[in-house]
Amino acid sequence: MSALFPQPFEEVEMPECKKVLIVGAGIGGLCAAIALARIGVEVDVIDIKPDNAVAGVGWGLRTNGLRALREIGLLEDTLAIGFPTPPLSYYDRQGRHVVDIPYGRHFDGMPNNVQLPRTGFLEMASARAREDGCSIRMATTAVDIEQDDTGVTVEFSDGSADRYDLVIGFDGINSSIRRYLFGDRYVPQRSGGVAWRAPVRAPDTLKGALFCHGFGGKVGFVPLAGGMMYVIVTHFEAGRPRHDRAAFPQIMHRVARDMMGDSPFMAESIDSLLRATNVAYTPLDTVMVPYPWYCGRVMIMGDAAHAMTPYLGSGAAMAIEDGVVFAELLQSGDALYDVQTRFMARRYPRVKTIWDTSLQMMHEEFDSATPEALDRRLAHLVNEEPAALDYVHRILENPY
Ligand SMILES: Cc1cc2nc3c(=O)[nH]c(=O)nc-3n(C[C@H](O)[C@H](O)[C@H](O)COP(=O)(O)OP(=O)(O)OC[C@H]3O[C@@H](n4cnc5c(N)ncnc54)[C@H](O)[C@@H]3O)c2cc1C
Repeated sequence: MSALFPQPFEEVEMPECKKVLIVGAGIGGLCAAIALARIGVEVDVIDIKPDNAVAGVGWGLRTNGLRALREIGLLEDTLAIGFPTPPLSYYDRQGRHVVDIPYGRHFDGMPNNVQLPRTGFLEMASARAREDGCSIRMATTAVDIEQDDTGVTVEFSDGSADRYDLVIGFDGINSSIRRYLFGDRYVPQRSGGVAWRAPVRAPDTLKGALFCHGFGGKVGFVPLAGGMMYVIVTHFEAGRPRHDRAAFPQIMHRVARDMMGDSPFMAESIDSLLRATNVAYTPLDTVMVPYPWYCGRVMIMGDAAHAMTPYLGSGAAMAIEDGVVFAELLQSGDALYDVQTRFMARRYPRVKTIWDTSLQMMHEEFDSATPEALDRRLAHLVNEEPAALDYVHRILENPY
């Protein structure tokens, strides 16, 4: 993977794009594979991981993401493993109700938000991609990529090689395909936010997502299927400390307790973190690659191009939309360059708005470290946040 910009931004005449390699079998890569297979493209998918097991727990998909899944025939299977999410209720540290905020706006008869298991979704989407004829090879990466006028030759880590009309890097925030295209021009940036997540047993009283806003962040309790919930703690973390993985439950518990002060509200659930066995710690790094997300026959999509903070729960939805829109445009049979530029014109403004708003919302949450700032923040949640979110939800509802 030597040459940067092996083919400067010139038109690639390719009326037919018959064979595509997708690097990365995450949420975006698998959905793109299905979308492309459905228009008759031969798709190979590779992933460096040995299997679909992922750290972390649930993720939410709003109606716009469900709409994209409906386009590729995955809606029913997704709803079958999902859990519709009622509005999320904000409480203050003392357990006083502050405001209920809807997760998205539902339209087209679909739920406004569905909570999904990460591994379960990957298992389901992998099975569907295989049924649709895609080949998926795990524990495999691309070790060399060379493109010329007629295609891309890829050498794989298992020693094999193949030739493709197009390579799409859906390989996440630390994308090697982005590095191949742009070197170190676009590298993940620290946003300062971190998220701790852990699945634990839910109290019987938890009927919907409940967020307690504390000093400088929040502790959230989001119901999952089977009597479980995931607890999420978000806060600002200075520097880049190296936490001992074995101590994750204790650290997450301490951060949550510090945020809640000595309040007894949700204390049992917070204390249950000490027994959690699958705690994920994620610094909320971001990347936003400006136009273009391609060079010749190599492209990036999803988090590789636009990893955002999870404050609108929309990173995966944007990744899914990328693949669905690209397949729709490719179906036109136009030259690859035309398809790519039209793809950028459709995707960049939409994704950038969601990326910017997600970051802004994170900063608004963290601006609550003192009692006065926390009071201001709670007033903001009541008075301005619902309208701000309604604006974003209407953007998400717009055609993608
Ligand atoms: C705390 C947190 C909560 C979130 N919650 C939500 C939410 O509720 N809703 C939502 O829509 N989004 C959410 N997101 C964002 C969402 O997880 C991402 O936007 C989404 O997973 C991006 O999908 P992707 O397929 O582009 O990348 P990824 O899911 O990161 O998948 C990339 C894949 O590429 C593989 N890979 C990496 N390098 C290589 C390589 N060199 N060769 C081969 N394979 C490789 C990886 O193993 C992985 O399988 C959240 C993110 C965080 C951090």
